Formats: sequence, C-alpha cells, structure tokens
Amino acid sequence: MNSIVTRFAPSPTGNLHLGGIRTALLNYIIVQQAKKKLPNSKFYLRIEDTDKERSKEEYTKDILEGLNWLNINYDAKPQIQSSNIKRHQQIAKKLLENKKAFKCICSNEILDKKRELNKKNKISNKRLCETCENDYEVQSTQNDYTVRIKVPKDGKNEFNDVIQGKISVDNKEIDNFILLRKDGTPTYMLSVVVDDFDMGVNFIIRGDDHLNNVFRQNLIYKAMEWEVPQYAHIPLIHGNDGKKLSKRHGAISINDFRNEGYLKESIINNLILLGWSPNKIEKDEFIQIDEIIGSFDISKISKSSSIFSYEKLNFFNNHYIKSKDNSKYLIKYCENNKNLNIFIKNDKDKFIKIFEVYKKNLNFYKELENIAKIYFFDNLEINFNNESKNYDYKLISEFNYFLDKIKNWHIDNLKKEIDNFILLKKIKFSSLGIPLRNILINSSKGPGIDEILYILGKKTSIERIKNYISKKQL
Ligand code: GLU
Repeated sequence: MNSIVTRFAPSPTGNLHLGGIRTALLNYIIVQQAKKKLPNSKFYLRIEDTDKERSKEEYTKDILEGLNWLNINYDAKPQIQSSNIKRHQQIAKKLLENKKAFKCICSNEILDKKRELNKKNKISNKRLCETCENDYEVQSTQNDYTVRIKVPKDGKNEFNDVIQGKISVDNKEIDNFILLRKDGTPTYMLSVVVDDFDMGVNFIIRGDDHLNNVFRQNLIYKAMEWEVPQYAHIPLIHGNDGKKLSKRHGAISINDFRNEGYLKESIINNLILLGWSPNKIEKDEFIQIDEIIGSFDISKISKSSSIFSYEKLNFFNNHYIKSKDNSKYLIKYCENNKNLNIFIKNDKDKFIKIFEVYKKNLNFYKELENIAKIYFFDNLEINFNNESKNYDYKLISEFNYFLDKIKNWHIDNLKKEIDNFILLKKIKFSSLGIPLRNILINSSKGPGIDEILYILGKKTSIERIKNYISKKQL
C-alpha cells in the first residue's frame, strides 16, 4: 500500500452531531498519521445525498461548518454522491452483464405476501425472490425491474475488522438485496461501494451500525473483482443512562456546542478519550490534536460502546477556557453572541475582569450572559427580604465611607483594605460579606467581595451601596 485513503460519508438527513464528529475525527487522524510515511494519503468528504426526500441543503451546510470549525480538514472538494448516479447505474448494468446480479419483477404485493408466508412458516426473509434469478423470460425483460445482487448459496463471507476482529457469516444468511430500484435509482449499498472504489478509498472507518453492511458491500467488491478495503467499525457513543445518544444526551448539532461556547479543543479531547486512552501514564487527561496524532492507535479502541457525559465535557471545556493560549477565543465568541457583544462594546475592561474572576467555575462562555448582566445594570434592584432589611445599616455606611477613601482599586489592595476594616471593627467577615454580596450583585453566592468590588469599579460599588442605604431609609 503506498497510501491510506479514508473518507467521511455523512448523509445530510440531520445535523452533524457528536457521533458523526467522532467518525470524521478518527478518519482525519489516521490519514494525518499515514501522511508522515505515505505522503499521498488522503482524507475525503462525501455527502451522501441520494435520499432526496430526507436530504436537506441546511444539513449539508451544518456538516461543512462543523468540520471547518473543528479544523477537521479534508483533502479535496466534498464529493456529492447524487452527481454520480449514472456511474452507479453503469456498474449495476455491468453486474447484470457479468451475471453477478439479476433482474427481479416481483411486485411489492408479491413480496409482502412472501414475507407474511415466511413469517408464518418461520423461514428467514433472506431470499425474498427465488424465482426471477433463473427465469429466462424475466432476465430478458427491458422494463419495470429491480436489480438484485446474486448471493452464493454456500460458503462463508469473512473479513477482519481492525477494531472488531474477525467476523464471519454464512452466505445463506445474506439477502439478495437490491442494487437498482424499479425507477432506476441506485441503493445506498451500491452507491457507497462504487464511490469508495472510484475515490480509491482503502480504509473505511465508520460507526458499528454499518457492520452488517460489510457482508453485502463485499459481495459487490468481489463481483466487480475490486480489492476489498480494510475496515474499522467504531462502537457507538451512548448517553450516561446507557441508551443510544439522543438530543437529550448531546446528539445536538456540533454548531450548537459552538454557540454555547464550547471550544474545539474540549470537544476533540472529550471524543478521543471515548474508548481509547494514550499509553503514557498521565497526571491528567488533557490531550490535544498534535499529540493525539502522535500517539493514537485505532486498533486499541474498545469494542464496547462508550459513554458521553456533559460533566466530562464541561470539565475539559473549563480547562481549555482557562488556558491563556485560548483567550483569543473569548473575543471571537463574543463577536458572534449578540448579548455579550453589547457588554464588550460598552466596557471591554469590565467584561474581561468578569471573565477573569469567574473563569475558574465557567463551563462554557454562554454562561457569561447571565453573570455579566448583574455587573452592567445601571440600577441594580436588590431583593429586599427580611434578612436584607435587617442588615447592619451603620456598619455598611461606614464601610462605604471607608471605600471612598481607597485610592488603589486593584484586587490585591482591595483584599488588604477589607481585611483591615474587619480587624478595625472587630467583626466576623460574614457580617460584612453576606450583606455586601447581596447589595452589590443581588446574590448570596458568588466571588469574593474584593473581586466583586474590583469588577464593579469604585464609582458603581459606592453607588450600589448608597442606593441600598437610601432605600433602607425610606
Ligand atoms: N451515509 C452513511 C451514514 O451517514 C454512511 C455510509 C458509510 O460510512 O459507509 O450513515
């Protein structure tokens, strides 16, 4: 083999979600590894849009945008499967000519009856049509027929999957599936093999929901005397309740993750560790694309399904959000987020201070919308409850007076000054901290008082406290 050629072949019948991304990512990684030794290796993208009813332009757009955002770059323009239909039909014709396929004129009614009868007699539905194949008249017909593959009656169909190992099935278990429908359109089973062959794909990496298709697809390869590719079928991702990944678990568009403020580093780090771990003994689980390309081994992927959890993704995202190298992402994110963009335009310094203070607990950037709001309100309305009505009004007034005298409004100095005030007044921190947090940000939870004062700045801090005092006096 002088090159490795892989492809990602999504059907644009839905948004690009985590499962699809994982497949694309693995195909991409394998080719980046191969390119080091075999520079002609390629990773292609093929949009499988032959199901015209379910395929939508918006989904193709979603797939392209998602891959682009994650930097999963393919090597040529995406191939559009529907533009190759003539070629698929040509191959079906060739298979007919070479007696590797046959015409079938069974109507749907006949096939339905057969299915019912089989069910009654507990016979498998593998060979629904048994009569057309050897009927000379049917084979000479020119109209209204489907084309079915001929399947050997005996023998075995075997292959070695890089992840799943050796897999074997008796030919009698394989159905004589349709290659061309009555209206002349090719089926997925035919199109996928023809396109993979034409693109020179020699390594197919995809979800293990396609494992059973290999037996059928290999029949086409063999009938055409084409070399059968290598296969790696990746176990599917499940949610933490063990069920197949659904919208609820994160099977939402990858672009929705981006809009929430997840970073590509976190998505890739999270996905690559589903069913695989690097050999090295690590203190942490952080690994980025270059290192992954250096150490990934597809044959070591676990055969059992892996679990996706938001908790883990948030853990990675928090790590990458905090990293100095990624500070560029925040501004970029804000440019595309209407609400945050307003804050940045209003007072970028203040917004950055908010981020710096809150980043230690931030799961994704969108959370900043609600956080920043509190700091940007001109007139913060605090909830006056029984507790806040009884705050030590005198102490708070004195503290405000004290704040007014502070010249250096830097965070370290603010901390020192607050400590001094507490010492001077011989009070517990909480008797000042609890009321102040409520007065300043209308919340019982949040960062330290020094941090809150730092973000708000001297003028707004003093104003908010004054505002409380004047309300209290009413
Ligand atoms: N288009 C198929 C899908 O989206 C994938 C085909 C393949 O990888 O062979 O499930």
